Amino acid sequence: MLNQDVEKVIFTEEQIRNRCEELGKQIDSDYADQPPILVGLLKGSIPFMVELMKHISSKIQIDFMDVTSYSGTRSVGDVKILKDLDRSIIGENVLIVEDIVDTGKTLAKVKEMLYSKGAKDVKIIALLDKEEGRLIDIKSDYVAFKCPNEFVIGFGLDYNQDYRNLPYVGVLKEELYKE
Ligand code: 5GP
Repeated sequence: MLNQDVEKVIFTEEQIRNRCEELGKQIDSDYADQPPILVGLLKGSIPFMVELMKHISSKIQIDFMDVTSYSGTRSVGDVKILKDLDRSIIGENVLIVEDIVDTGKTLAKVKEMLYSKGAKDVKIIALLDKEEGRLIDIKSDYVAFKCPNEFVIGFGLDYNQDYRNLPYVGVLKEELYKE
């Protein structure tokens, strides 16, 4: 079972649900004039998107993008779109939903792309923020939890595509990385 591979739990299912409830209320109040379109970045954002949207009462829509980033010598790597948005975002408030912000490279590029598609405003909400990992000066507007500088899995976050279905965020046992 997946649980046996986990060294420690960092954020429990209950803690995540409680934070999503707080964030949902905050989004309702911050976007009272024009509710946002939530744009989830596949695949890691799925559980967070599901939990968060349950706690937003305004009339919102959701969409997804799938991007891969190439790190190169440039400060911001290139991002290739694997799945683009289904709808137009011209004149809309967009809230990017991300699992974790580490270097910030992916989000910087996606944010730029969404503005170039005509969004009025683009903000970021992340389940986890690893502030120590940042290489690009980009801020998450909303963060559920600050994340210690460890490799975490669960609640959408993977290790070689596994562990996304864990209902909490945790750290993998070290021997599993070294295989
Ligand atoms: P960055 O901010 O470096 O552009 O990229 C963030 C992406 O790196 C996340 O969406 C996630 O896929 C991956 N990532 C960064 N840190 C971690 C981590 O601790 N665990 C997992 N599973 N993925 C991570």
